[in-house]
Amino acid sequence: MSFIETRGNDGIRAREVEFSDAILNPSSSFGGLYVPKEIPNLGTDFITKHLNTTYKELAFDILKAFKIDIDDDTISEALSLYDSFDNPNNPSPVVKIKDDLFVNEQYHGPTRAFKDMALQPFGSILSSVAKKRGEQYLILAATSGDTGPAALNTFKNKEGIKVVCLYPDGGTSDVQRLQMVTENGKNLKVIGINGNFDDAQNALKNLLSSQSFKDELQKDGIKLSAANSVNFGRIIFQIVYHFQSYLELLRQNEITLGEKIYIDVPSGNFGNVLGAYYAQKMGLPIEKMLVASNENNILTQWLTLGIYDIRGKELKLTKSPAMDILKSSNIERVIYDICGAFRTKELMDNLNEKGYFEHTKEELAVLNKYFAATYSDDIYGQKTIKSFVDAGYLMDPHTATCIKAYEDLKTKDLKTVIYSTAEWTKFSPTVLNALNEDDKSYSDEVALKEISSKLDLEIPKTINDLFTSEILHDTIIDIKDLEKEIISFL
Ligand SMILES: *Cc1c(COP(=O)(O)O)cnc(C)c1O
Repeated sequence: MSFIETRGNDGIRAREVEFSDAILNPSSSFGGLYVPKEIPNLGTDFITKHLNTTYKELAFDILKAFKIDIDDDTISEALSLYDSFDNPNNPSPVVKIKDDLFVNEQYHGPTRAFKDMALQPFGSILSSVAKKRGEQYLILAATSGDTGPAALNTFKNKEGIKVVCLYPDGGTSDVQRLQMVTENGKNLKVIGINGNFDDAQNALKNLLSSQSFKDELQKDGIKLSAANSVNFGRIIFQIVYHFQSYLELLRQNEITLGEKIYIDVPSGNFGNVLGAYYAQKMGLPIEKMLVASNENNILTQWLTLGIYDIRGKELKLTKSPAMDILKSSNIERVIYDICGAFRTKELMDNLNEKGYFEHTKEELAVLNKYFAATYSDDIYGQKTIKSFVDAGYLMDPHTATCIKAYEDLKTKDLKTVIYSTAEWTKFSPTVLNALNEDDKSYSDEVALKEISSKLDLEIPKTINDLFTSEILHDTIIDIKDLEKEIISFL
């Protein structure tokens, strides 16, 4: 199947590309994104057929449904990366926490956050495509904490790929920083930036548009690609686990075939919940996607008022930092699907030029057929973590935002699956504040130990080992020295 562009074609690029092109060069005409030309409808037969298959078999068949130009062996090899998860046959288990409430735990991979679900197999596919073409790619990533570790982990020592990962020095948790600076691979470079996440992200954008930088790369025959969720190569793997949620509820006799469910997702760049939107289009019986945010509530504004307005807005630093965002990339794919390329370009141009856009009433009504949204603050998060742990379930601060959406947005008596995007070990100081009902500042090391002994929980070895591993990346620089630093690494 071919892939087309959300903002239409500029007459220079190809009008349609194959999957492999879309993942190697993910930026399309006018700054748009690639989307599949058609979304395959699989029907309920597909669901019945997968009641007794493994996660890998389910994923394989969903990828095949998109008719991607990747051979079966390469797909299977990519999916074998789920073998490093806690349970290879069920990498994102679905757990019941209340009569009508379930959690899809997406954090059972190597870096203990949901990014592994897609980045692990995606990294394998991207590097095998690069290798087959005999090309060299540089992946530049700016991270606020979870994407960096997952990208480094999946790409380490892969042929044809080099990764430079920027993080804000002092802006990530200890665990997140250690996951990056102890990662061992000769094709990896981790750089701390004097500044915050926005500074790191802006530095990266400037670099991507710098001619001198591109000239240097060209001299070495290196091309640029991206591993964030603008890349459809990640989104395709994020469709699979929504099918898995539904199949698990069927297997656990909690629903009958055809019964609808709510999917409730803590959202930032909108990649995770976009996967659910596609799954619904492919025939999965979803009543509605509930979009949960923190105090950076731009998605709530978009889906309730039909306005996306970042004028005068400043990013708030919250206790659910992976959702601290103003510009959410993947809403563009939904807008394209609902409004078409011409209108998408118009709205996105407005956002870039004037800082806002506004939907028509009709457009908003269509969005609201699929999505409902709300947000909550850190105090709500702390109380939620505490009340659920008292009832026997421990969740991280991102997951806690889903509870607000579950409480406020459900209008029908249907089962809800919330998505747990990080293990408590990644945000242990915040979790300990919630348990102790205090606001002391704990180090990760202290918080991990205290929670683990309080609740009798094991800390995964990969997290424990971080504190005694050798620091392999100790570069911390000013943004002005970034280009020089990267060129010298290459
Ligand atoms: C990345 C991330 C999110 C947001 O996911 P999107 O796909 O960007 O909406 C939520 N929670 C955690 C822990 C994350 O790492």
